[in-house]
Amino acid sequence: MPNLRSLQLMTAAALALALTTACGRTEQAAPAPATSTAPAVVPVAALPRIEPAAILETTTRLSMDKFQGRAPGTVGEDITVGYLEAKFKELGLKPGNPDGTYIQKVPLVGIIGSETKPLTFTKAGKTLGLKWKDDVVAWSKHVAPAASIAGSDVVFVGYGVEAPEYGWNDFKDVDVKGKTIVVLVNDPPVPDPANPSQLDSKTFGGKAMTYYGRWTYKFEEGARKGAAAVLIVHETAPAGYPFSVVQGNLNEKFDLVAPDKNMGKVNIEGWITLEAARKLFTMAGQDYDALKKQALTKDFKPVPLGVKASMAVANKLRTIDSRNVVAKLEGSDPALKDEYVVYSAHWDHLGVGAPVNGDTIYNGALDNASGVATVLEIARALKQAQPQPKRSFLFLMVTAEEKGLIGSEYYSLNPLYPLAKTAANINIDGVNQWGKTKDISVVGLGASDLDDYLREAAKEQGRTITPDPEPEKGFYYRSDHFNFAKQGVPALDPDSGIDYIGKSAEWGKAKRDEYTEKDYHAPSDQVKPDWDLSGAAEDAQLLMAVGYRVANADKLPEWKPGNEFKAKRDAMFKK
Ligand SMILES: [Zn+2]
Repeated sequence: MPNLRSLQLMTAAALALALTTACGRTEQAAPAPATSTAPAVVPVAALPRIEPAAILETTTRLSMDKFQGRAPGTVGEDITVGYLEAKFKELGLKPGNPDGTYIQKVPLVGIIGSETKPLTFTKAGKTLGLKWKDDVVAWSKHVAPAASIAGSDVVFVGYGVEAPEYGWNDFKDVDVKGKTIVVLVNDPPVPDPANPSQLDSKTFGGKAMTYYGRWTYKFEEGARKGAAAVLIVHETAPAGYPFSVVQGNLNEKFDLVAPDKNMGKVNIEGWITLEAARKLFTMAGQDYDALKKQALTKDFKPVPLGVKASMAVANKLRTIDSRNVVAKLEGSDPALKDEYVVYSAHWDHLGVGAPVNGDTIYNGALDNASGVATVLEIARALKQAQPQPKRSFLFLMVTAEEKGLIGSEYYSLNPLYPLAKTAANINIDGVNQWGKTKDISVVGLGASDLDDYLREAAKEQGRTITPDPEPEKGFYYRSDHFNFAKQGVPALDPDSGIDYIGKSAEWGKAKRDEYTEKDYHAPSDQVKPDWDLSGAAEDAQLLMAVGYRVANADKLPEWKPGNEFKAKRDAMFKK
C-alpha cells in the first residue's frame, strides 16, 4: 500500500513533469516536452517499488559468518558466487556471459609478503630500524619469491607528482633510479594566492583529490621514474583513514598479472607512519614539517636525505581464478538491445583476518553486501518495469575491489560486450543505513549527463543532488566505476545524502565519521539494530529510474565538455 508520502510524490511528479509515455497509458495533461526528441519517461513513482526490507534481508544474508567475509579465493568466494548465481536465476535473469554462464573468470595472483630483513635506515654509523606492521607496512608486487633493496639512497620527493597540466614536477631533473623515494600522501594542498586560507581550486582540484593524490598513483609514478622503493608517509587526515587500514595490506594481496610478471613495478611498495617519518628526517638532520611546507610549491626540488635504506621481503605466491558474477536483462528493442547499461557492485570483502574484540570475520555488511543487495533489487524492479526497457542491462558483481578494484579492472580491459556499446555504468558501493535524506550525493558531480538524469529523478522524489561532501578523500578513484570511466564509459558514483530528515546537518556528518572510525574495514561492519534502510531504498529507486531512462533514451549519455575521460569516449566512436 502506498504511504502518504509516496502519494504526495506522485502528485508532485504529475504536476512537475513534462511527460509522455511510449504506450500512452498515463492520462497526465502534460505540457509538450522541451524538445521533440525528448524520450518517453515513466515517473519514478510509477516504476516498481524497491522495498527497504528486501535490501536488508539480502544484506543480512551476505554478511552472515557463513560467508566468511567473502574474500576472493576462499570458501567465502564459493558460497557467495553460488548464492549470486541462484539469485540471478530466481530473478529470471539470463547468464551475462555470452558463453552461457553467469561467470567471468578473473585470473589473479595472490601475494603474501613477509619481512625477511627489517626496513633499516643508516647514516654515518647511526641506524634506525622500523618495526614491521607498527611502523612500516610494505610488500612487493613482483611475481617472484623475493624482493629487496640494499643500501639504496633515500630521497624525499615531496608529493611525488608529475602533472604537466598544472606545470608541476616534483622530481625536476633528479634521477631517482634505484633509489628509495619517500612521498607525502594525497596531492599538494596548494593555497589560493588570492585567499591563502582556502585551497587553490585551479591546482589539483582544490579541496577535491585528483588521481595524483591516490596512493596507487605514487607507486605507479615511482615505477615510471625507475625507483627501487616507494614509501608513503601516512597521515590520517589527508589519507582519509587511520594507519590500521594501511595495516590491512599485510593480508594476502591480489593483482592482475602483467606479461612482465609485474617486474616493471618498484621492488618494494610501502607506507611508514608519520612518527617513523619524523625519526627518519631527524636522523637525516632535516625538519619534516619544514620540508613538507617546501613541497607545497612548484619550485620544490627533491631532497636527498643522505640516508641508505635496506629491506627484504619474501613473497608467498598463488594464482587463483576468481570470478565476476554477471547476469543480463535483454532489451526489448531489436535495434538497441545490443547496447548495455551496466549496474555494478563488488561482492568481495576482506575475509577472515586479525581479531578485533575477539571477532575475526570481516563481514562487510555495508561494504558491500548492501550494494550487492541493492543491485539485486534494482534488477528485480527492472525485470518487472513496464514498458520493458529498450536497451539491455548487465548486473555485474565484481571481485577483488578491496584488493585494488581488480575485478572491475579486469572487466574494463576484457569487456563481455564492447565498451562502445556500453551506455553507462552505475556502481553501488555501500548504501545509506540511517534513514531518509533530502539529498543524494554524487561523487565527481558534473562529470556526465548521468548527473542530469539523477537530478531530474530526484526532483520527483522532492530531493536534490549534492556534491560529494568529502571530495578531499578522492572517492572518485576508489570505487569500481572508476575503471569504466578510465576506459571512457560514462560512470555514475552515487553516495549517501547528508541532509537527514529531522536531523541537524552535523548529525549526518557525525554518523559518517563514526562509521569510518569504528566499522570501516573492521569485523564490526555488520547489520546493526539501528539500521534504517528507508533512505537506501529511495536512493535505489532513483538509480533504477536513471538506468531505465538511459536504456530508453534516444541517445547515449555523454561526458561533459572538459571532462578528463571524454577524449577516450570520443575516440571509441571514431574507430
Ligand atoms: Zn571496502
